[in-house]
Amino acid sequence: MAKLKELEEYREQIDQCVKCGACRAHCPVFGAERREGRVARGKVAMCQSLIEGKLDLEGKVLEDLSQCLLCGSCEAQCPNKVPTDEIVAAARRRIAEERGLSSFGKGVAAVLGRPKLMNFLAKSGGALSPLFFEKLPENSGLRLRFPAPYLEAGRTLPPLTAKPFRERVPERIEGAPGKPTVLFFTGCGINYMYPAVGEAFLKALQFLGATIIIPKDQACCGLPAVSAGAAATVEGLAEQNLAVFSRYRYDYIVTACASCYGGLGKIYPEMGAEFAPLSTQVKDIFVLLIELGLAEKLAALPKAEKRTRVTWHDPCHLRTRGITKEPRLILKNLPQIDFVEMQNAGICCGLGGTYSVYHYDTSKKIGAKKAGYIAASGAELVATDCPGCIMQLQDGVNHAQGPARVVHLLELLVAALPEGEGKLTTG
Ligand code: SF4
Ligand code: SF4
Repeated sequence: MAKLKELEEYREQIDQCVKCGACRAHCPVFGAERREGRVARGKVAMCQSLIEGKLDLEGKVLEDLSQCLLCGSCEAQCPNKVPTDEIVAAARRRIAEERGLSSFGKGVAAVLGRPKLMNFLAKSGGALSPLFFEKLPENSGLRLRFPAPYLEAGRTLPPLTAKPFRERVPERIEGAPGKPTVLFFTGCGINYMYPAVGEAFLKALQFLGATIIIPKDQACCGLPAVSAGAAATVEGLAEQNLAVFSRYRYDYIVTACASCYGGLGKIYPEMGAEFAPLSTQVKDIFVLLIELGLAEKLAALPKAEKRTRVTWHDPCHLRTRGITKEPRLILKNLPQIDFVEMQNAGICCGLGGTYSVYHYDTSKKIGAKKAGYIAASGAELVATDCPGCIMQLQDGVNHAQGPARVVHLLELLVAALPEGEGKLTTG
């Protein structure tokens, strides 16, 4: 049975915090708020006091523990590799257990655990969106006209699709003999908001001859529920997805969403021995494409005369697991692209699962900094590998009135593939 770790199980890692403060310079929330309770050191000390029974779950403690993006930037810079993101997530589970979920957390748990309800809400939202949103130019999203529950007026969101991606495609697309079989874990972002990214995924892998399986009944990876502290929902979704995976024979489970990659490849394997194989089975799309020799194929294409200046944003769930070179290698070899590195490409965009709902003001400040780095790079497009990052980055750019548009790298990739080589089978 799937089981997430209790806060007490992190005691050893918590004790390894030597209070050096090296994490302060790398925490986006501390950078925006400049308060000790916002940084890893403060949160780890709070969790230590909780375990020792010296602190109650109230007021300032709840507020400080909610002020974390779970981005992992602090761990990457910590001399003792204290996993503050995991510790804070465990503390939120403790809070939810003792005090119940927040009203938004209850909503997250109710929707994510019921795929049929999610489908219904997404389709209804798509149909009603012209009432609530104004369309922004250059396909840069929709802007909310009025404040809505948990959403501030003026926020940019992507349109919800009337026909989810998984309803458009067959469950199996046969490839060439001798090529890998890939199970495509689409995640909710691609299924409901960015179906074109799903189509680009298929086209890229068909170009390389892979067989692709797209299980219709795969569930959400559960990351928003991790952020909300909804343990039972995460555990239930993990079991549901494992049961789906067990029906197929495949070489890899592949994601084109960094959050799904983090959920399936890092969080699930910690929930019990039956999930352990996922730590090696789950691959990010760009890692697989590089392994299949795509960079060399792209390098052989003639350079376009007119090229677009593009920069890259590292999603936290890829950066913290060492995936930074592969997408850049693809970008550098795209014939229609001039790749330019932005300053602080690895800093969190400020979304942080449910964080941007609870703390939109801070989230906007973090997004504004990122929008400044994007503007300074002079890029016309920002590419990334996470629907959540696309949504948050575009919101930041729009608030800063920057000209850049945010896209998934797969969309740029398929635009470069020779015509007719990748057959789309979506309808
Ligand atoms: S860098 Fe690590 S050890 Fe130092 S204060 Fe931050 S969490 Fe603690
Ligand atoms: S996980 Fe991110 S937001 Fe949370 S304390 Fe660490 S650096 Fe700050």
